Amino acid sequence: MSSLTSLTLKAAVDGLKSKAFSATEITQAHIEAVEAARALNAFVLETPEKALEMAKASDARIASGDAGPLEGAPLGIKDLFCTEGVRATAGSKILGNFIPPYESTVTSQLWRDGAVMLGKLNMDEFAMGSSNETSAFGPVVNPWRSRGSNQQLTPGGSSGGSAASVAADLCLGATATDTGGSIRQPAAFTGTVGIKPTYGRCSRWGVVAFASSLDQAGPIAKTVEDAAILLRSMSGHDPKDSTSLPIEVPDFASFVGKSVKGLRVGVPREYRVDGMPAEIEKLWSDGIEWLKAAGCEIVDVSLPHTKYALPAYYIVAPAEASSNLARYDGMRYGLRVDGANLTETYENTRAAGFGTEVKRRIMIGTYVLSAGYYDAYYLKALKVRRRIADDFDQAWQKCDVLLTPTAPSAAFGLGENSNDPIAMYLNDVFTVTTNLAGLPSMSVPAGLDAQGLPLGLQIIGRALDEGTVFSVAGAVEQAAGFRAKAEKWWL
Ligand code: GLN
Repeated sequence: MSSLTSLTLKAAVDGLKSKAFSATEITQAHIEAVEAARALNAFVLETPEKALEMAKASDARIASGDAGPLEGAPLGIKDLFCTEGVRATAGSKILGNFIPPYESTVTSQLWRDGAVMLGKLNMDEFAMGSSNETSAFGPVVNPWRSRGSNQQLTPGGSSGGSAASVAADLCLGATATDTGGSIRQPAAFTGTVGIKPTYGRCSRWGVVAFASSLDQAGPIAKTVEDAAILLRSMSGHDPKDSTSLPIEVPDFASFVGKSVKGLRVGVPREYRVDGMPAEIEKLWSDGIEWLKAAGCEIVDVSLPHTKYALPAYYIVAPAEASSNLARYDGMRYGLRVDGANLTETYENTRAAGFGTEVKRRIMIGTYVLSAGYYDAYYLKALKVRRRIADDFDQAWQKCDVLLTPTAPSAAFGLGENSNDPIAMYLNDVFTVTTNLAGLPSMSVPAGLDAQGLPLGLQIIGRALDEGTVFSVAGAVEQAAGFRAKAEKWWL
């Protein structure tokens, strides 16, 4: 494949501006890479014609000196984002052949800044899952393999298509979403960088809703700097989303490479969970040492309600999902399976259109919101959520960021956990806390395990302090010197 696909987003945008190559050339190179990598099942829809059309327009803007910050950069779009005139499925059969009549705010900002769309990326159905196996289009295959093995591994989920396509050099960056870890865990499993910004940074308008109080969009990228560049374009106030924050968007990239000397890095003792592989413990200690060497002060902190985060998440998220997914009734969008009467049509449509995990979440959510159980489950979970946010507020008295592992394991085999929902939910143990508290959190690739699989470290920051998160992530990235790439076995 052309060396244009191995560039970082930053190098590509610079090269395009200096006319070292054209947007059409770099787009063509990526289209070929996507076509050659169908074994990964990362895309549910390729849009090469649209990509070339957009690239041509980029070349014209570059020629006339009007290049935007992402001019000519080919990106992949998670199929949870509505794209005008281009099918959006949310990884489900229930949307059928739904062609959105409008563009999500986040993607429209990427196009405003000159980016090029290569296609729509595979994902867990309605973003529910941690392995991409709930997708109605079949799982994404992780480009990484254990040393000496050709077992197929999960790229993580729900943004598995985003993570796999960035890791495999099919696109320069991708959009993703994170409700409980869906940007960070796939980033960790594929050796890529992913950031979930503060709740309200990126507009949710035009992003198919899973759990509205937790959902946030963010980028998956090859480097910390690339993630910063993408996040800047994706962020910003949007009057169409009432939870979008009316605040300025900083130049996130200006924080990457900034000294972290004197910053206080908290290490939460409750994240030392039983059964965590020694290699992840070791990576975490390495991260602490790297930041110490960069001049940070390491402080021991306690987040005492951490153990309740996963159970609270698995009540709040399904509760909101059961409400959000009520709209898929066969009347307004996509699939309809007719019955003898209206109720039967609803039942048939939803039975045929939703997969097992989505049905499980709808049932859990409906149960915890039902009259007899609302107080015992849903209200209780909301109280726990408040306590978790309070834990972080306490921690910020003692530190500026927190450092933790991103996930409790490296990528596992496809099929390994798919029959055990609880084992699957445990993947999210370190990530759901920041969705419940609305805080920015980022995964940075920091090393390989003994099987040669990537592992990530997570940096958590104060609300709206993505800047410090980017500085610390940059320091970790530099110290880790992670350069490994998956071998391109699919070529
Ligand atoms: N794995 C988590 C879940 O299944 C998180 C998903 C997400 O962040 N979208 O709910």
